[in-house]
Amino acid sequence: MTGSSETLHRHSSDTSSALGEALAQLDRTVDRLVLDTASHALLRSPMREHHLTLPIRMDDGTTKVFTGIRIQHNDARGPYKGGIRMLASTTVDDVRALAMLMTWKCAVMNLPLGGAKGALLADARALSLAEQERLCRAWVRQMARNLGPAFDVPAPDVMTSGQHMLWMLDEFETIHGARLPGFITGKPVGIGGSAGRIEATGYGVISVLREALNRLNIPLNSTTASIQGFGNVAQHAAQRFTEMGGIVTSISSWDANDNKAYTFRKASGVDPQALVRVTDRFGSIDKDRALDLGYELLPGSAWIEQDVDVLIPAALENQITAANVARIHGRVRVVAEAANGPVTMDASRALEDRGVLVIPDILTNAGGVTCSYFEQVQGNSNYYWSSDEVFQKLDSWMTDAFTAVSERAEDDDVSLRDAAYLIAVDRVARACRERGWV
Ligand code: NAD
Repeated sequence: MTGSSETLHRHSSDTSSALGEALAQLDRTVDRLVLDTASHALLRSPMREHHLTLPIRMDDGTTKVFTGIRIQHNDARGPYKGGIRMLASTTVDDVRALAMLMTWKCAVMNLPLGGAKGALLADARALSLAEQERLCRAWVRQMARNLGPAFDVPAPDVMTSGQHMLWMLDEFETIHGARLPGFITGKPVGIGGSAGRIEATGYGVISVLREALNRLNIPLNSTTASIQGFGNVAQHAAQRFTEMGGIVTSISSWDANDNKAYTFRKASGVDPQALVRVTDRFGSIDKDRALDLGYELLPGSAWIEQDVDVLIPAALENQITAANVARIHGRVRVVAEAANGPVTMDASRALEDRGVLVIPDILTNAGGVTCSYFEQVQGNSNYYWSSDEVFQKLDSWMTDAFTAVSERAEDDDVSLRDAAYLIAVDRVARACRERGWV
């Protein structure tokens, strides 16, 4: 099924959804770039959408029918690239928005890749590993003719890991009768994976944060931060920030038993490694063990109102909104969007009006896809770099991208978000034109 621009246009006024936000940002950018109507329509719509029905034999012998999705937004600059999440609450519109964000993320980083996103609508916590494996393999069987190293390259996302990628790779290779490691990224190290992929997104967040603080003449060491989330991205961001002399004073995470979030505060500074030891693989901090470590337990939303220099939302979308932006402390100078879409457009404007620098998600969390690109480069030459080499290259790519966005923001007198979109959308629109699509 192909997405119609008419369907997508209907969502344009609803900026409360992730897709509404993504389309509104694109519309603003297209207006600024004065793009033609055909380019605008092309960029608003995914090139292809795949909606899959996946019957899965459960461990108890019954069969359950799941839904799989792959939205391929734009491949004018290179093969589609984007993760696959295993999350029951995901909607098709969420995946459309995330696929579009991947196009802009790859373009702002100047990676030779397009944008896509996938989903398995299932609650990973409620499935055994064997059931998850069957689901991953079924998704690949249905998608096999529409994926491949030169066409669409998936990766891990929320609730999927290197293990899920290997099951998917194995299924794809079995179908094609060949070893094709370039089919997927996020593979474990030693089986085609890149060193540093797990740390890459969090480390990349801190590379751009360091550059932003530099721009504001704020020394990173002795700077304080409050973080929402303590999963893959937040754990490595907290670790890197602390290594560089920063102090994380609070971290929030979701407690699946209590079905609510908590904020864990330690004014003298969080020890990220000690906190990781009391956190499960879903990023939920064990509150009793954290209390034993001397953490103060606060409501989940308290992370946003801390007296700190930096906020790092690294959990979910739509977390800083018009409804809570006023609760942000006057001391905050930078908000680094480590999650996808954590700050709504109106909240972002309110922060900018207060002089807070908001580093946009398509730049802040691009370290993951940049390392996926490194994995492709290493896989193509079948020669693998040390983690030091990966981190050095990652830091240099993140710094260069931040510099380009920051210069564009100054030249055009716009926010970092608008500047990042101007660069990204311009690159993709140009590739579409040069290919003769519009
Ligand atoms: P994750 O599943 O590993 O961690 C999510 C964390 O958020 C967990 O600690 C969870 O407890 C916490 N959380 C959930 N709901 C919460 C709430 N209401 N309040 C406080 N904490 C809450 O996910 P991740 O891989 O770290 O990804 C986080 C975000 O970053 C997502 O938006 C994801 O799309 C984005 N992202 C991730 C990567 C990557 O490489 N992992 C790359 C780019 C963007």
